[in-house]
Amino acid sequence: MLAIGCHISSAGGFEAMGKRALSLGATTFAYFTRNPRGGSAKKADSADAQALVELMGQNGFGRLVAHAPYTMNLCSAKPDVRDFARRAMAEDLQTMELVAGNYYNFHPGSHVGQGAQEGIRLIADGLNACLEPGQSTCVLLETMAGKGTEVGRTFEELAQIIELVDHDECLGVCLDTCHVSDAGYDISASLDDVLCDFDRVLGLSRLKALHLNDSKNPVGSHKDRHERLGLGHLGLDCFAAILRDERTKNLPMILETPNEPQGYAAEIVALRALADGADTTMTMASLATARDE
Ligand code: FE
Ligand code: FE
Ligand code: ZN
Repeated sequence: MLAIGCHISSAGGFEAMGKRALSLGATTFAYFTRNPRGGSAKKADSADAQALVELMGQNGFGRLVAHAPYTMNLCSAKPDVRDFARRAMAEDLQTMELVAGNYYNFHPGSHVGQGAQEGIRLIADGLNACLEPGQSTCVLLETMAGKGTEVGRTFEELAQIIELVDHDECLGVCLDTCHVSDAGYDISASLDDVLCDFDRVLGLSRLKALHLNDSKNPVGSHKDRHERLGLGHLGLDCFAAILRDERTKNLPMILETPNEPQGYAAEIVALRALADGADTTMTMASLATARDE
């Protein structure tokens, strides 16, 4: 079964998240490892984690794609902010070993005027401080839209970070469709060109997960405003291509579209239909009906 899911509230712990995901028809999900505004993580319960592992096994789930708080900045100009980011990441990775073998996705960071090169150096330093040889969690760098001073707006920047990390065997990339389009990669015009470029610069073996979001803005806008599937500049054809391409169809796919849970459930149904070869115009019509209900 394809691993398709969405962002889920972390309220109630691991097993509660798994049940919530199941109720939406999801076979993977994302969650914030701690409050996105920072702060400390709740103490994790290993029996609860084990219950989630069992639920995932029984229901054919793909790997989870946990999300670090988006305020975490490994390349801040302020040492205390960098320090917090490192501590949060190290702690999150320890907790994730309770649900071994999943993904931990993070935004590389914003260089806040220090320059992309300095940002890349600081991010790699931070990763070198956090990654442990032999850890079962693969850490994913997310492709960024290039808003403000974000690092990771090009595949080259991500490749430079990876090159500087010692334990690069636990590093991968999560491609966000809204972000890459906003960054200037015309994924809706040619998925093939973008994937070939990814392969040339990073190698396709680094591509571990996808964030499926439509974009409110045209290609190259550097805005990072997510839209619901089919209602933005990417369109359902772009997602149909991703679901039918050998290079992407088996990756965990996470929706981060502006939706309530029922909106996510409708998009998950639509994505599964597209994967099965459904016509995009008809799928768009059923999606519109489901959204109105
Ligand atoms: Fe993200
Ligand atoms: Fe994303
Ligand atoms: Zn985004």
